[in-house]
Amino acid sequence: MQILVGKIPTNNLMTTYKKNNFFENCSFVKGVANIEGLEISNVPEIAFLGRSNVGKSTLLNAITKRSKLAHTSKTPGRTQELNFFSVIIDRPVMNIVDMPGYGFARASKKKIKEWTYLSKFYLQNRPNLRRVFLLIDSRHNIKASDKEIMNMLDECAVSYQIVLTKIDKIKNQDDVILKTKNSIQKFIAVHPEIHSTSSHKERGLEDLRNAISSMVE
Ligand code: GDP
Repeated sequence: MQILVGKIPTNNLMTTYKKNNFFENCSFVKGVANIEGLEISNVPEIAFLGRSNVGKSTLLNAITKRSKLAHTSKTPGRTQELNFFSVIIDRPVMNIVDMPGYGFARASKKKIKEWTYLSKFYLQNRPNLRRVFLLIDSRHNIKASDKEIMNMLDECAVSYQIVLTKIDKIKNQDDVILKTKNSIQKFIAVHPEIHSTSSHKERGLEDLRNAISSMVE
């Protein structure tokens, strides 16, 4: 008689997750406004980060196929919070963190300082953080404020990957991808593959969903 012991192979688990519509099992957990509110977790985690207005909430809603998921937590005053979402399939299988947008034209020095303190603390103290998806508006390429964030991610040794947004707005997609590839070359912790997406036209979403769900153990 053969007794099967041990972990179910990852591939089988992933198939089950996909069958169960991974992202439809995602719900908002809480907003964290200060470092005291951060709870230790051993669940694989990914985070979304980008300049304000890059299309982060729209992309989160599009990949989860839930029209109000990210916007529900985007009420005034809460935008500086780290918003935690959890994918639960019998048990929590992944945390998704919506980090506050940066690069506000009119942000006060105090707000920028608060943003940097909380975000940097989070990035430096998150062993379960598998990857940060750094969103870049495909119309604007990588700006100085994005480069500052990339330097911060390099310093924190956090793996990150560029996701171009709003590609329906550009004509020369290949040129933009090439230009972006060239501008990320000197960064250390960046993943070389670039995702290009349009939430409005539902382009590149399935690839991004697969990249995210493949990070579940
Ligand atoms: P956030 O501040 O990064 O959360 O940005 P939002 O998700 O609120 O989006 C900012 C603006 O960009 C809104 O007017 C969206 O409708 C628009 N937007 C978001 N995604 C897309 C997209 O894929 N294509 C186009 N054309 N516009 C988009």
